[in-house]
Amino acid sequence: MNYKDKIREIENFPEEGISFKDITTVLKDPKYLKETIDELTDYFSDVDVDIVVGPESRGFIFATPVAYNLGAGFVPVRKPGKLPAEVEKFEYDLEYGKDALEIHVDAIMDGMKVLIIDDLLATGGTISATAKLVEKLGGEVVGLGFFIELVDLNGRDKLDKYNVKSIVKY
Ligand code: 5GP
Repeated sequence: MNYKDKIREIENFPEEGISFKDITTVLKDPKYLKETIDELTDYFSDVDVDIVVGPESRGFIFATPVAYNLGAGFVPVRKPGKLPAEVEKFEYDLEYGKDALEIHVDAIMDGMKVLIIDDLLATGGTISATAKLVEKLGGEVVGLGFFIELVDLNGRDKLDKYNVKSIVKY
């Protein structure tokens, strides 16, 4: 699959200087959608996984079908104020700006094996915050999977204790 021809690059979005990787052009192609989900699933098919966590919002798109394929459950991590029940919260730095993420406190039980899937690894802020939320609840992070990795932003440096996989590297 020629992913780089499918991913649409938008210059100066959402801010000046950012070359945004638009994945909607990949998702709308049935062959690419299937291949992307299958590849992410294959990376972790030998790993014991109870729950797949996906951060808002593009993480939901990839994490849920991977969870389905692995026979695991799906848990969302969301921006503040979106989850209705009691939450754990963590603040983190973005590629552009600062943000916080939340998870339901009863979403993950002590000792559960958790795979985290997102669309894109940039600085690693989002995924580190997500991993910290999982670990705060007693979950064990057994893998991190991304469709795209922006290698020059060195997100992997923050994640060296984890099993990190990505399909497309820029
Ligand atoms: P990080 O926290 O690693 O710096 O940024 C990754 C997060 O920002 C991901 O959740 C991802 O959805 C979003 N993100 C940052 N840059 C891009 C981009 O160029 N394309 C897409 N699709 N998402 C991005």
